[in-house]
Amino acid sequence: MGLARVRGAVLAGLLGLASVGWAGVLPAVAAPSGSSTPLVETPPEAGAAAAVGAGVIEADDGAGVDAVVDAGVVKESVVDRSRVQPAPFPLATAKPARLGLRLPTDNRGLFEGKPEEFYMGVDRKVDGKTGLVWQGGQFGFVRNPYPLGEETIFIRFHEGMDIAPTVRDNRGEPLDLVRGIADGRVVFVNGVAGASNYGKYVVIEHDWGYGTFYSLYAHLMRIEIEAGVVVRAGQTLGRLGYTGSGIDRRRAHLHLELNMLLSDGFETWQRQLDPGSLTSPTLFHGHNLAGLDLAALYRAQAMDEGLTIPEFLASQEPYFKVLAPAGAERPSLLRRYPWLSAQALSSSAGLSCPSYEITFTASGLPLAMVPSGQVTPYPVVIASVPFNGRHSWRTMDRLTGTGTAAALSAKGTQYVKLLTGSFL
Ligand SMILES: [Zn+2]
Repeated sequence: MGLARVRGAVLAGLLGLASVGWAGVLPAVAAPSGSSTPLVETPPEAGAAAAVGAGVIEADDGAGVDAVVDAGVVKESVVDRSRVQPAPFPLATAKPARLGLRLPTDNRGLFEGKPEEFYMGVDRKVDGKTGLVWQGGQFGFVRNPYPLGEETIFIRFHEGMDIAPTVRDNRGEPLDLVRGIADGRVVFVNGVAGASNYGKYVVIEHDWGYGTFYSLYAHLMRIEIEAGVVVRAGQTLGRLGYTGSGIDRRRAHLHLELNMLLSDGFETWQRQLDPGSLTSPTLFHGHNLAGLDLAALYRAQAMDEGLTIPEFLASQEPYFKVLAPAGAERPSLLRRYPWLSAQALSSSAGLSCPSYEITFTASGLPLAMVPSGQVTPYPVVIASVPFNGRHSWRTMDRLTGTGTAAALSAKGTQYVKLLTGSFL
């Protein structure tokens, strides 16, 4: 499939969100086709009020029994910085390579209708009994059950998939080999188990022709690869284990992610937020990687081997949309993924603009980032999906408010600034 089809799909999916004209009042926003829940325009006063009250983050008790922490907090960097420069975007005429995604271990339950064997669950109390619930090993808002009216919602996001071991020795140690899911290059290795909540982990950079993506393999027992090495799909990286926090031998698993890289300026942003930190930030910190629904991508690839990630992302549901002032430079997010901006595909117009409209999934994955002529002094939410609970539960605390009123929290505002580069 050519890039023309990619463009077509992305444009069809995103133009409805991206190219709404500004005419003094905030327009109603249409959801892209295929989305089941429409975005609803946020009353302007809600956004303004939030900006004034920036600094308030709603507190969540997260009352649940799912105590596993996977969000990587890297305390020590072992990255070779010479190897992590962003790759230039290939010529627009380049034909995207096939994804060619493979599963990383011998566990094939995902494709065999056996999710209960594929996923390593989380401990959860159900009907008075505590046991492993496989659903908690999936990607998405699958953890920390919370009663909301008649139903139970899950307010904790899990940014990867937890793949259970298929074989253990007689002491219970997992023996599964972990392999790269696609061709790429190892860009980061953390070989110090205590240096990150991810434990020992490896990051591989993949370039299919539309910006670089990063697969991450966490909680490894042993790493058998070095940073800088070019790897083929299926090449062994190490052995599945249980290093890192919130995990033990019983729950040994591979935590697997496929991510977009948010900002080349992450280290500066992190130092500004936490100037007293003694630890050295790294580009491949979990907070600079936005994960996509990899299980859904595996399934989509099985239906269409020529599928590209921009096409896949056009099928993902938006949750909120922000208008944010542009920084001094073009955001590295747009340099790496120019297809996020429909306009940037066809011309260089709009590269210098006062603001961007950014469309996010609930978990903060950017689906579109379009130059706008609107002037705003600070980032504001201009559309969101209505929700009868707190938006903070559905957005990892980046939004506050309920119902149709949604606004950025201080955390959300910082996140948006990371993407636009306006902190630089
Ligand atoms: Zn995990």
